[in-house]
Amino acid sequence: MSSFRNISRRDFLKFCAGTASILGLSEAAVPRIAKALEGAAKKPPVIWLEGQDCAGCSISFINSSNPGTAELVLDTISLRYHESLMAASGHVSEKAIQDTIKNESGGYVLLVEGSIPTEDPRFCQIAGRNFVDIVAEAAAGAAAVIAIGSCATYGGIPGDCPTPGRGMGVGDAMDKGLVPKKALINCPTCPVHPERLIGTIVYYLLYGKPPALDKVGRPVVFYDKLIHDNCERRGHFDNGEFLTDWNSFEKRNWCMYLKGCKGPFTHSDCPKRRWSDGLNWCIGCSSVCQGCAEPDFYAGMSPLYERSGKNLRGVSVEKIGAYATGAVAVGLAGHFIGQAMTGRLGKGGPPEEGGGN
Ligand code: SF4
Ligand code: SF4
Repeated sequence: MSSFRNISRRDFLKFCAGTASILGLSEAAVPRIAKALEGAAKKPPVIWLEGQDCAGCSISFINSSNPGTAELVLDTISLRYHESLMAASGHVSEKAIQDTIKNESGGYVLLVEGSIPTEDPRFCQIAGRNFVDIVAEAAAGAAAVIAIGSCATYGGIPGDCPTPGRGMGVGDAMDKGLVPKKALINCPTCPVHPERLIGTIVYYLLYGKPPALDKVGRPVVFYDKLIHDNCERRGHFDNGEFLTDWNSFEKRNWCMYLKGCKGPFTHSDCPKRRWSDGLNWCIGCSSVCQGCAEPDFYAGMSPLYERSGKNLRGVSVEKIGAYATGAVAVGLAGHFIGQAMTGRLGKGGPPEEGGGN
């Protein structure tokens, strides 16, 4: 048996191998991951704060399995405080966070789930304190801060809806001086994918620094590819086969771009990683990609089920719409659309139809 409770050595090594693959590391990294995870005494303590959220990231995390990821990581990372998961409450739980902040200063990782209300901070309080002050206090002593989910990263739905408690992501709160600046890793999507969270934490344990990040603070290993470029419906897009009627049985698996899919504007490995232990993902179950991995989600991706107004690789949406809805001969035009989008079309291009730039 490993030093972990309730799991066999075999399952533990399987988990380590899975984690290596999550991080894009070779099998040679497995012993190192196992060593890092087994050195429980060396693990940085973790404080997990929840602000304006639906608790979806916590639920996604604790529902993960294959094998028992939640148990492994909750043991492994020495979780000191989580409002929903911890058994303690009241003064005992407040003492737990205060003790960690005081005794482990500079050595703990802070996870933030949910947005931070800043216009009127009273709209999110814990133990009578404004959430923004709690985040600021916890971030001051943190070695690193990981913002998880669309709300904590870039504000999400609470950030875009005109409510008095209008939310802000951790990065914006740092930029505005409301929260001390620290090494910040953004792991968006609504909710965060448990593997991306686990992978980010394990990377930090292994290397003592954040993984390579893109320009909006997301780990490149998880967020460097467009959904559209790995989508199983991409062939239909390239052929100009667009779903326009949700009730069409024949076209049920066609491209949902005209139904509002934001996959062409969204960077995330969802098509490859999928959800619910690889069972399915949004487009696989005929929902459009709503762009929840991007900083401009929610407002910039809304209305969620309407065609985006953004240009797609230089081709206007009006042009795509004109072709796809039959303003020109559908089959031929569709062929041209796909080629234009994928850059396979020469400069001559399809005949001009519709407006757009
Ligand atoms: S627009 Fe959406 S459904 Fe169509 S290929 Fe791209 S990601 Fe897939
Ligand atoms: S497919 Fe799109 S909407 Fe679904 S989780 Fe991934 S980024 Fe979010």
